[in-house]
Amino acid sequence: MDLPSAEVLFDALSEQQTKIKLFYIKEDDIAANDVLIPQKLDTVHGTMKIHQIFTNTPAQFKWRILSCFCSAPDECKCYGPQSVTMCKGPTTANGASNIDVPLMDAQAGFSRVTEITDQLKGCWCAVKYDREVYPGIVQDVNAENCILVKTLSRVGQNRFFWPMRDDILWYQPHDFLGLIPPPQPVTKRHMMLPVDVWEKLFSHL
Ligand SMILES: [Zn+2]
Repeated sequence: MDLPSAEVLFDALSEQQTKIKLFYIKEDDIAANDVLIPQKLDTVHGTMKIHQIFTNTPAQFKWRILSCFCSAPDECKCYGPQSVTMCKGPTTANGASNIDVPLMDAQAGFSRVTEITDQLKGCWCAVKYDREVYPGIVQDVNAENCILVKTLSRVGQNRFFWPMRDDILWYQPHDFLGLIPPPQPVTKRHMMLPVDVWEKLFSHL
């Protein structure tokens, strides 16, 4: 049998009476999600040993070498789950360290930043420019607490896209609104923020 593409393989396998769940993921779908991934991510070592990962907090997950569902859908502490924060934030507003503290308030989805540090690099944030709010990814910070951000372009209310040419600018600390969850794709090209986050950001103008 000739299998010139993944799609043909998927169709052929789907015709078999298999109990294995098959998914065909188009290249476009992968590309649409790629743009949402922060550029700088920590490596999780020993992934070959990991059998279960779970999460209920943006940018944070737990893993363990053995699976357990004894308290599902709630998580349990069996087999010592390890916690990973994918996008390490600075010290949170209440002074707690970022270790094991959700980076973003799950309710608010938006967190103010009290300290400009290197750890912001790669995080999604919102900046103010010309009385407008733009989401973007922190590229760098400097000794003057300025933040270099690659921003999305905006089309209408709460609709964003990556411009053809990178839009990277330094922002003053007072134009840096805080950290946000990554925008989610609404179409192949456009993304949006959770409505409550968008409204909250607007109230900071
Ligand atoms: Zn358990």
